[in-house]
Amino acid sequence: MKCLVTGCAGFIGSHLAEKLLAEGYQVVGLDCFTDFYPRWIKQKNLSSLLHHCHFQFIEDDLNQVNLKKILEDIDFIFHLAAQAGVRTSWGKNFKDYLRNNIQATQRLLEAVKNKKIEKLIFASSSSVYGLSPFFPMRETGPVQPISPYGVTKLAAEQLCFLYFKNYGLPTISLRFFTVYGPRQRPDMAFHKFLLALLKDEPITLYGDGHQTRDFTFIDDIIEASLLAMKRGKPGEVYNIGGGHQKELAEVIEIMERITNRKARITWVETQKGDVLHTLASIEKAQHELGYQPKTNLENGLRQQWVWLKELYGQN
Ligand code: NAD
Repeated sequence: MKCLVTGCAGFIGSHLAEKLLAEGYQVVGLDCFTDFYPRWIKQKNLSSLLHHCHFQFIEDDLNQVNLKKILEDIDFIFHLAAQAGVRTSWGKNFKDYLRNNIQATQRLLEAVKNKKIEKLIFASSSSVYGLSPFFPMRETGPVQPISPYGVTKLAAEQLCFLYFKNYGLPTISLRFFTVYGPRQRPDMAFHKFLLALLKDEPITLYGDGHQTRDFTFIDDIIEASLLAMKRGKPGEVYNIGGGHQKELAEVIEIMERITNRKARITWVETQKGDVLHTLASIEKAQHELGYQPKTNLENGLRQQWVWLKELYGQN
């Protein structure tokens, strides 16, 4: 069985490709190294994959690459390539979100619509919920993103659904809730906070620190992706959360314990597009996929801290 992983050089894509190879699948990884964060970090993400005999890497843009050729013998597609990041999705950057999140998804779906594939699993996001009035957030609840990023993820999710409805393409969307762990993107909060602690610099905290997130450890996200591949129902959407909700201020306390360093906080006002709270109902994923998150925040953060020190050469 052969899998295509788009966005394979990224945080989640590289972990997913490693796991698929470990499970005996052949993997084709596609990534164009967008300049959202440095190329050397993405190359490091890929380093263990490139020597694997069942791995093929294609450096190309999903908006341009010859998909017909790539898709010839693909059984499963994991579509993770995207322009991530909520705060950067305003203004002139929006064109990157349109191109990499909506157009690229539509191009992939068009290329695959008449092919026989087992499943296409799309990496959607909790940001599709926006300021949900209901907690925990359920797949059946309202979706009303409050960031341009969230709008493009919802549009891509809807595109996946309509190719399922119209062409019978077996698409599944997984709404990931704030993912953390080794290889987390440099624009993401835990990466920035831990790096500030490493460098003894102040941590910039938006809002009052009481905003909460459902944080999901990378291994749990990968486990959920493989479960969706095996048991997910085409046309469905599943929340994938970590099963615990924490305030950012509490997270910093845990980080201080792990790193044995004292945080200095610079408070800044809430950014447009940031939601105040997220909390996933994972009942559907538990029931239909057999998903159960296993890593608690402290253990997950310890792993991220070890990785981060190695990345920045202070091991
Ligand atoms: P990432 O930026 O580390 O990885 C995305 C990769 O996609 C990058 O390496 C980038 O170069 C590549 N890419 C972008 N546009 C491309 C294109 N047109 N052609 C080829 N490659 C392209 O991001 P990540 O955190 O690993 O996120 C992966 C997916 O999961 C994204 O779809 C993101 O929206 C989704 N997601 C992530 C989180 C999270 O907390 N990290 C939460 C919810 C959803």
